[in-house]
Amino acid sequence: MPKNCIRIAGLSEGEHGQEFEIRNKFFQKYKESEVKTGEFIVKIVVVLRGLDRKLTINIEGKITNLLCDYCAKKLNCVISTTSNFVIKENEEEIESTDEIIYVLPNQHHLDLSQLIFEMVNLSIPNKRTHSKSEQEKGECDKGMLQLMEKYATKTNKEIDPRWEVLNKLKVK
Ligand SMILES: [Zn+2]
Repeated sequence: MPKNCIRIAGLSEGEHGQEFEIRNKFFQKYKESEVKTGEFIVKIVVVLRGLDRKLTINIEGKITNLLCDYCAKKLNCVISTTSNFVIKENEEEIESTDEIIYVLPNQHHLDLSQLIFEMVNLSIPNKRTHSKSEQEKGECDKGMLQLMEKYATKTNKEIDPRWEVLNKLKVK
């Protein structure tokens, strides 16, 4: 069985589980990937009930190349994501959707690389910062935090009335 592939034909009725690890090397072939490094456990379950085939992919792990929005240092971004699909046969190759994976009638296995790549990249959080506890432990760069606070207070500060007078003079 090729890497990151699962068997989808000749399965017996019931559940079929499989587990594999993906690491940095996996993302090298995806130049556009925002995730460059990390460690993940991918758990696959294929369920066969009569003619119905269902697939569940669960990915847990950490992305390690993202930078903290506060201090610009690397942080470990823990992710956990699960997707469910129905596997359907089609005479011709057609593109799968968010819910349905189309396979050919004689197809023996299914490569999950693209799905895993998408699931990991879609689970990047919008806000990337060291957690509160990490900040308290000093993981977040203090110097940068102080600098940011200084900027924040500067911009929020009311305009000094003396400057206001000067500004008025300039307008005239
Ligand atoms: Zn930080």
